[in-house]
Amino acid sequence: MTKVDYYEVLSVSRDANDQEIKTAYRKLAMQYHPDRNPNNPAAEEKFKECGEAYSVLSDPDKRAAYDRYGHAAFQGGAGAGNPFTGGFGGAQDLGDIFGDLFGEMFNMGGAGGRKASRVQRGRDLRYDLMLEFEEAVFGIEREIKIRRMEMCDDCKGSGAAKGKKAVTCTQCGGRGQQRFQQGFFSVARTCSVCGGTGTLIVDPCATCRGETRVQAEHTILVKVPAGVEQDTRIRYQGEGEAGKFGGPAGDLYVVLTVKAHKFFERDGDDLHCVMPISFPQAALGTELEIETLEGSATIKVPEGTQSGREFKLKGKGVPHLNSHGKGDLIVEIRVQTPSKLNKAQKELLRQLSETMVVENTPTSRGLFEKVKEMFS
Ligand code: ZN
Ligand code: ZN
Repeated sequence: MTKVDYYEVLSVSRDANDQEIKTAYRKLAMQYHPDRNPNNPAAEEKFKECGEAYSVLSDPDKRAAYDRYGHAAFQGGAGAGNPFTGGFGGAQDLGDIFGDLFGEMFNMGGAGGRKASRVQRGRDLRYDLMLEFEEAVFGIEREIKIRRMEMCDDCKGSGAAKGKKAVTCTQCGGRGQQRFQQGFFSVARTCSVCGGTGTLIVDPCATCRGETRVQAEHTILVKVPAGVEQDTRIRYQGEGEAGKFGGPAGDLYVVLTVKAHKFFERDGDDLHCVMPISFPQAALGTELEIETLEGSATIKVPEGTQSGREFKLKGKGVPHLNSHGKGDLIVEIRVQTPSKLNKAQKELLRQLSETMVVENTPTSRGLFEKVKEMFS
């Protein structure tokens, strides 16, 4: 059998460093891991090949020998004096590599194997709740109905008929996994008989058919605090789906969507709006009545107010979500240039214009902004 070059197997260059080799191996091993490629002999073969390449290239001595002698360095019976004859130093260190790389990912529990737990945590659930703008600002309580898996009452989550119990799976001895020796390491697969639960229900509960849970509708009172924003998530621990076999329930996440307001826009806890006024109002000054989220307020616009000037109404914004106090309401004045004037109005404006001297000479934007500030 011709062996593929170890560097080619891992798709690394011959001068790749340890980290590059490790990264390359990790990526490939994940891709071809039998747990992810059930009943795929080609992937299994690839997986073995990668493991072998890694076990050599990750060890400085073996790598040096490989670089010098190629595969011959490791061929059994290659002759006396070959220090590498007889495999790759045992499965032990590979187990370490393996545990290190896959321990968390595949929940393999290291070399010792584990007793399968039938108990599984239930899924988390998401519920999208649409709020009016004001509801987000002031908070609200709302009952929602969710459909979820709940523990079957008739079997109390055991899945077995009354008076019956689940028995230990004879195929895997309750481990939930079957181990296969593949070359120099072993691979665990979910037990095909019990589906990984480690137990068999011979006489299933009639209500849940052995699933241990049933679909149910549940009402939850969602308490939305004042000051929430778009996409705020409220977590209700244990209100997700029940776990199988009496396992802990998942969580429920209520995700908030906030409708737009007809004129207020939020910037954190501040509210912004634009207030149009006429040129005479801006020139002569005026009082404006403005609708806030909590009743009306008055803004005193002084004479000579420039377009773009902002007025701040302190504490008329959104309550801070996690502390006391509120944001502000900021009202931006926009002076409207009249566009539909009748004859009489035009005549008045002409008379006004004759009394005013404006120097129509260009200025820089910066200077103009300064002048505007001076006026505001
Ligand atoms: Zn049941
Ligand atoms: Zn089993």
